[in-house]
Amino acid sequence: MTDRENALLAAVPNQLFIGGAWVDATGGTTFAVHDPATGQVVREVADATPDDGIRALDSAVAAQESWAATAPRARSEILRRAWELVQERAEDLALLMTVEMGKPLVEARGEVAYGGEFLRWFSEEAVRVHGRYGSNPEGTGQMIVSQHPVGPSYFITPWNFPFAMATRKIAPALAAGCTTVLKPAEATPLTSLFFAQLLAEAGLPAGVVNVVTTTSASRISAPLIADPRLRKLSFTGSTGVGRKLIAQAADTVLRVSMELGGNAPFVIFDDADLDKAVEGALAAKFRNIGQACTAANRFIVHERIAEEFAERITARVAAMRIGRGTEEGVTIGPLIDDDAVAKAAELVADAAARGAVVRTGGTRIDRPGSFYEPTVLTGVATGSAILREEIFGPVLAITTFTTEDEAVRLANDTEYGLVSYVYTRDLARGHRMIDRLETGMMGLNVGVVSNAAAPFGGVKQSGVGREGGFEGIHEYLATKYTLIPND
Ligand code: ADP
Repeated sequence: MTDRENALLAAVPNQLFIGGAWVDATGGTTFAVHDPATGQVVREVADATPDDGIRALDSAVAAQESWAATAPRARSEILRRAWELVQERAEDLALLMTVEMGKPLVEARGEVAYGGEFLRWFSEEAVRVHGRYGSNPEGTGQMIVSQHPVGPSYFITPWNFPFAMATRKIAPALAAGCTTVLKPAEATPLTSLFFAQLLAEAGLPAGVVNVVTTTSASRISAPLIADPRLRKLSFTGSTGVGRKLIAQAADTVLRVSMELGGNAPFVIFDDADLDKAVEGALAAKFRNIGQACTAANRFIVHERIAEEFAERITARVAAMRIGRGTEEGVTIGPLIDDDAVAKAAELVADAAARGAVVRTGGTRIDRPGSFYEPTVLTGVATGSAILREEIFGPVLAITTFTTEDEAVRLANDTEYGLVSYVYTRDLARGHRMIDRLETGMMGLNVGVVSNAAAPFGGVKQSGVGREGGFEGIHEYLATKYTLIPND
């Protein structure tokens, strides 16, 4: 680690943030945060107990009434100030994410920009929450539809986008007038702690955002989800955990937003601009070292152009620079841990055993940290696990099709439905794909779609609810209808 990294890490808070104060976990226990590029411990942080989780909820509940009563303009300005502070501290935030998560620094900077936009977007949305007013059809009364903060909200976030996944939930909640408890992933708690400090600097009142870092995700979460004072759960993570959380939320009929797994198809028709398709494929597959729920998981390529696409993409992938994310020119950092490496290796072995050809990569890299070579597979057979499961690693798997109907059938052949990517020059076909592909989002001739101004979310087992856009704030608002008779 460099002197700059050491100084930055030493300055990041490492306690729980509850009621506006930095406090130790009950019993003073801590856990280690690692740099996945080296395996080195970079910081110890507080390991919250279930009691600490409840204390965090107590504090969110205590702050709810006054935060909801705070003028939308005042809430908006705190969010705006937080966005400004994120710009000022962008380099620190990016470096911190690279150290604890492994993504290349240039991508970490991209995440700071993208994640920060949620603060700015929802600072603008905070003052634009409107209802409706009109007479009833009978003409006997007035109907008022108004929007109200849903109340204390609990957020569980993953490690792959440590900053953006937090802002995507916190910003709309604050804009709507809800208080929050955030539980970041065990692998990447530092970014959330750093962000909590920025929110406090931005003038956020005590108790409105609370952060509990822990190694006991389920032991902390279950009592919070069961607590009738909690009014909203928003989770981003795997579909398996999401299912369990939805089941727990059923007991109190808790409102949920779920951003779960994906298995994105990347369909390239034979009329596509192949230069653009190659660039889009690289972004959709290798951004974040393949560890994104929006990552292209299955490349479904027209058989006439499949070989040319495979050759061109293989040349680009074979030339990728692998290393610690802080090194100049690195595009492939480490995976989050050794289990992730083992999973990528297993999926590649299964596909190869079923006849796939490894065009480049295909092995674990022998160096400290959790590295797997960027890999291209062609001729991936139906039934291969890699087509069914989320890869979450730098492996690009190519299958082929001949007709549009077959492409659609293959693309939709998954229980997931988060995002799809389609490359075609045919406008009418593009529109048909918007109708026919069962996903919540689509990139038509583009490999990255995320934007704070757009509703992010999936259909089928990719989740419920939307984050960002006009829709995002409504996840934190409850609609109330009032009838006032005319006489
Ligand atoms: P990933 O594959 O991205 O690690 P997970 O779904 O395992 O996805 O983790 C996402 C988040 O969910 C993390 O913050 C993790 O600590 C949390 N988590 C995992 N299991 C549970 C659980 N049973 N209850 C509550 N939170 C959980």
